[in-house]
Amino acid sequence: MRYILLGTGGPRLSQRRRGTAHVVLFDDEGLMIDCGPGTTYRLHEAGVAADSIRYLFLTHHHYDHIADYGHFALTRWDHTSQPSPLDVFGPPNTARITDLLFGTDGVYHGDILARTEHPMSQGIFAIRGGKLPRPMPEVWAHDVAQGLVFETARWRMLAGPARHAEPFLVCYSYRLETPERTVVFSGDCGDYAPLAAFARGADTLIHMCTWPDDVLERYGMRDYAGGPGAAGQAAAAAGVRKLVLTHAHAPAWDTPEGMAEAVAQAARHFGGEIVFAQDLAEI
Ligand SMILES: [Zn+2]
Repeated sequence: MRYILLGTGGPRLSQRRRGTAHVVLFDDEGLMIDCGPGTTYRLHEAGVAADSIRYLFLTHHHYDHIADYGHFALTRWDHTSQPSPLDVFGPPNTARITDLLFGTDGVYHGDILARTEHPMSQGIFAIRGGKLPRPMPEVWAHDVAQGLVFETARWRMLAGPARHAEPFLVCYSYRLETPERTVVFSGDCGDYAPLAAFARGADTLIHMCTWPDDVLERYGMRDYAGGPGAAGQAAAAAGVRKLVLTHAHAPAWDTPEGMAEAVAQAARHFGGEIVFAQDLAEI
């Protein structure tokens, strides 16, 4: 199993970080968590074929987590001669967003018709080894609740609590359990005890670290957006072995010194290994 942090930034544009996306690769299939801006390019840079990703799990519908959904789903369909279905799981509205993108009244319906029916696109499909008629993309979306979301013989994914943008957006954390290890991703989440309970017994906690704690405190954001303190406290309460700080929105995290300071702040609460996430890093 390989766990790759594709995108580790927040909404602020950065030359080093893209929007949130993580990919997990097993021998013959992959899954992805979130699909923020730049995800499809990051997949390519990681050497991962888009169509090898069979499952997508969305934490919530802020654009820094879903802006690349259309690009990713169409790339994985368009760039192969034998497209496989994509199953997408997320909070309420995931199915509606999917329909508004790829359905018959959707943003991309004209594009999909053109690529399946126009001789130019059929020629490109034939160059890729495809046989007409060209199949339409299959994107199966599932609005899910907290609890077990999906399982195979080798892994299972559970959606858990997060406190972030309610009541406007339903927000989840995710827990991936495999025989090898268990990884919990906080999604976007502030200082929130139920998240630590959900992460209990995991090997690794990947936690939002968006702004320094004093900034979150000053602007009343601490309950909804995690910083080093919330991340360190959650990791300690959960008893994980490793903490990964991600979702670097603040300019303070742009330098090695700034990231080292964030790690030091988290270490006041958590005695295990702590790393600051980087795009394309494996954990
Ligand atoms: Zn975010």
